[in-house]
Amino acid sequence: MIGIFTIPKTINIYDEDISSIDFEQVRDFIISNFGNVEVRIVRTEKKIIHTKGLLFDLIGTQKSLDDVDTKDSCHIAVTNKIFATYGEDKRLHIRASIYSIPSVISISGIIEGPAKPREFYVYKQKFSSLGVWELKEREIKKKFKGQFIDYDDRRLAEVSKGYFAQALFFYITGEPFCNRKSCRLYNAHWQKDLIYSQIRRGVFCKQHRTALERIREASRKIS
Ligand SMILES: [Zn+2]
Repeated sequence: MIGIFTIPKTINIYDEDISSIDFEQVRDFIISNFGNVEVRIVRTEKKIIHTKGLLFDLIGTQKSLDDVDTKDSCHIAVTNKIFATYGEDKRLHIRASIYSIPSVISISGIIEGPAKPREFYVYKQKFSSLGVWELKEREIKKKFKGQFIDYDDRRLAEVSKGYFAQALFFYITGEPFCNRKSCRLYNAHWQKDLIYSQIRRGVFCKQHRTALERIREASRKIS
């Protein structure tokens, strides 16, 4: 711990066989922003992320990391699994990420978590009630093309970098989010905002750029 920062000695990223992300690009992104920390990409055979039904199971997830030394290391597991946690409305909400020990990022959750345009759901509900959603899904998705991140979307890799940055800010400072939409740390509840923060802008706000400078400086001192 240097100042108010907890600088990780290593960052372990667990890859549950995710093909839509170039982890070398993620490593470059982390090193260029957070300093010269060791980033280990661990391709895992066993599944790390556990759920009970749809509900994220933190204890089960932590148990699957039991055999690794969690001291001085930041652990981020990346999955295609869909998981949810309870919102303030006491209903389950699909999440793109959860920041804890370990932090987890769900690639499918990035697609299914932040909301699509309201009209999309109007169509979906209408065609689902008629029993033809599966026939119509492609056409409707085409209608809203570009307005949300979809499976096999080339923008997924870029968008995911924001979630890695949030996981790292959580580990280093305790606070993963920023309330500015023009910052990678913005906690987007809508796909529109996610695309704005991570694609259109794709940068950190001034305050977090300054924080990153100080984090890089702190990590130079310990390496
Ligand atoms: Zn910010």
